[in-house]
Amino acid sequence: MALLEVQGVESGYDAMKILWGIDLAVERGETVLLLGANSAGKTTLLRTIIGLLPCWNGAIHFDGQAIDHLPPDQRIRRGIAFMSEMGVFPSLTIEENLRLGGYFISGAEVRRRSVQLMELFPDLAKKRHGLAASLSGGQRKMLGIAKALISQPKLLLMDEPSSGLAPVFVKQVVEALRVAIGGGTALLLAEQNVAFIKLADRGYLIDGGRVRVSGTPEELETSDAVRAAYFGLA
Ligand code: ATP
Repeated sequence: MALLEVQGVESGYDAMKILWGIDLAVERGETVLLLGANSAGKTTLLRTIIGLLPCWNGAIHFDGQAIDHLPPDQRIRRGIAFMSEMGVFPSLTIEENLRLGGYFISGAEVRRRSVQLMELFPDLAKKRHGLAASLSGGQRKMLGIAKALISQPKLLLMDEPSSGLAPVFVKQVVEALRVAIGGGTALLLAEQNVAFIKLADRGYLIDGGRVRVSGTPEELETSDAVRAAYFGLA
């Protein structure tokens, strides 16, 4: 069984169904891109996997066990981390953000992991007593990634790390993600920016709350559906 298995998942807001039977899997250590335009349903799917939205129908298994009935904190304790578009708390310092990311692990472990993460992200180390608000957009996303990785999750759900960033900062985020991937955490990365295709082992294109195409980065890049949605070529 894959690390994460999403089978026939339906979900939405109040009576409005947004996801219409999503099937998706992430293997251990794998990086999977969830590609989709605005309103495709990417955020809704990530929120359903972490438990912020109820799963109306279908099943979600993580690490061999059904999790769709569990509250978010129990899903986090089992090894899933969630990085929202916002990612960090601007009014807290870098160290405070990291401590919050490590809410479910011991203080000693947070300190040990913080040292490791500061080595991986030297830009953050220089400013670790400063407010997250003082960081550039790209550095804030780096902090969001570090905050999500501090508890060494088995799976990181990441919502649009490129949102609101100029292309130069998107490059920084792609590089920061390469570091994250090197640590063995599996990633499910929701994005509308095709710059992230190259990072992925596999990907899915979702549209209208349904999976339209899935495959390797090469298969996605040459798929008519992706070319139509992103390159205006089909
Ligand atoms: P984006 O890049 O715009 O965030 P997305 O693929 O993440 O796109 P979702 O945020 O999942 O898309 O939105 C899917 C649909 O759900 C959209 O039609 C959106 O208007 C609707 N939606 C999102 N949040 C809510 C909400 N809190 N209440 C009602 N409808 C919502």
